[in-house]
Amino acid sequence: MSLSALRSPADRLAEVRQRISAAATASGRDPAEITTIIVTKFHPVSLVRELIALGAHDFGENRHQEAQQKARELAGEPVTWHFVGQLQSKKARQVAGYAHVIHSIDRDSVVKSLAGGAGADGVDAVARPVTDCFVQVNLTTDPRRGGVAPESLEPLVEKVLTTDCLRLLGVMAVAPADGEPARAFAEVRTYSERVLAMAPEARFISAGMSHDFESAIAHGATHLRIGSAITGNRPEHG
Ligand SMILES: *Cc1c(COP(=O)(O)O)cnc(C)c1O
Repeated sequence: MSLSALRSPADRLAEVRQRISAAATASGRDPAEITTIIVTKFHPVSLVRELIALGAHDFGENRHQEAQQKARELAGEPVTWHFVGQLQSKKARQVAGYAHVIHSIDRDSVVKSLAGGAGADGVDAVARPVTDCFVQVNLTTDPRRGGVAPESLEPLVEKVLTTDCLRLLGVMAVAPADGEPARAFAEVRTYSERVLAMAPEARFISAGMSHDFESAIAHGATHLRIGSAITGNRPEHG
């Protein structure tokens, strides 16, 4: 067994917090302005509880059914749920039912579904609570990766800004696995600036994962989505 397998989530969380602080300080940023979202996909609710007991409150999930189940089981706990996975438009309204923040708005049909009139949930559009969201930008040329193509960013942002039940926080992106993270995050910053020109309050950037969060911090990320560096390796899944 490797040494790292013997370390606990508490050890890993402490180490990641330390690295976030150091990276923020090195960039002249205040660590307190950075939100760390622990991505717990494929891990049991017991791990989420363990992390809550260690003072964590922002958790991320990327699959609707698993996320919904965890949110139900942990109802009443002081948790902010972040949905970070690809969003099917027909499931979007259900996701908004438990997610406090949706990071993956990437096309009109999703916005339309979230904005639509009284539907399956029976809640009138006017009465619907506001969901915080990010527009996800695709940094690759592969449309299956999720995210809006950069050339279509402004029209999508415009749609979000004109939708009453959505509040735009900023842009989200996943750095391509085979590229240079610093380049990817510098590019994300240019998209953030384009969004800021339309919506000065949408100043947040959701970027940075286990292997690249220090670089993301150097390029202005405000919301890190960190899984395995804190949770350990994900359990096998089929
Ligand atoms: C799984 C996932 C993460 C976390 O990935 P790690 O490499 O485990 O830190 C972040 N963002 C998204 C969108 C994910 O699906």
